[in-house]
Amino acid sequence: MEKIQFKAESKRLLELMINSIYSQKEVFLRELISNASDAMDKIYYKALTDDSLSFKKEDYYIKIIPNKEKRTLTIIDTGIGMTKGELENNLGTIAKSGSLAFKNETELKDGHDIIGQFGVGFYAAFMVADIVTVISKALGSDNAYRWESAGADGYTITPANKEDIGTEIILTIKENTEDETYDEYLDEHRLKEIIKKYSDFISFPIKMDVTVR
Ligand code: ADP
Ligand code: MG
Repeated sequence: MEKIQFKAESKRLLELMINSIYSQKEVFLRELISNASDAMDKIYYKALTDDSLSFKKEDYYIKIIPNKEKRTLTIIDTGIGMTKGELENNLGTIAKSGSLAFKNETELKDGHDIIGQFGVGFYAAFMVADIVTVISKALGSDNAYRWESAGADGYTITPANKEDIGTEIILTIKENTEDETYDEYLDEHRLKEIIKKYSDFISFPIKMDVTVR
């Protein structure tokens, strides 16, 4: 299977992410939730002008599934999804909106919360994950694809099985190191806290099953 290389800027940003000069790794979840919400907005706007599409609010939601045994955190949305070409273009290239807009060096040196000010986007996932897997089926498409990357040395795209339109992002959460723990991103209470902090304004429901005991 051929491994495709990231575009140059993406690679640089990815290296930054992986070596995470940022303290607030938790914002990865804000970025993934905001992408999920954008993807559902896209269906909504399409439905406004396309009579063959109906938008039923209750069909649109984000689901967060932590799995401590498998050490995965899965983020599912019922949004517009991505075609094979879109997976390649959107996740293989750095996105337009502000991702590389690290204003200037002074701001960095001043220790401003750069990451909090600018959306860093999808690649933020690599701050907490060794492997990022995206399974997506685009609106109007019969085929689903799996985009997978373990970081700076590229990604693969292969056919996948997925029943519903939308996107599923599976993060294989990093193992703890001496200076850094990642277990918190598998903990439902901690996840709930992060979602409250950054994603309170999201207009779609964010669901997570809760363990009672
Ligand atoms: P931005 O959201 O600022 O465009 P990101 O890096 O967060 O940049 O995402 C890059 C692109 O990947 C998005 O613009 C979108 O086209 C696509 N994308 C990311 N996540 C999803 C998703 N869950 N569903 C559909 N498309 C997505
Ligand atoms: Mg985004």
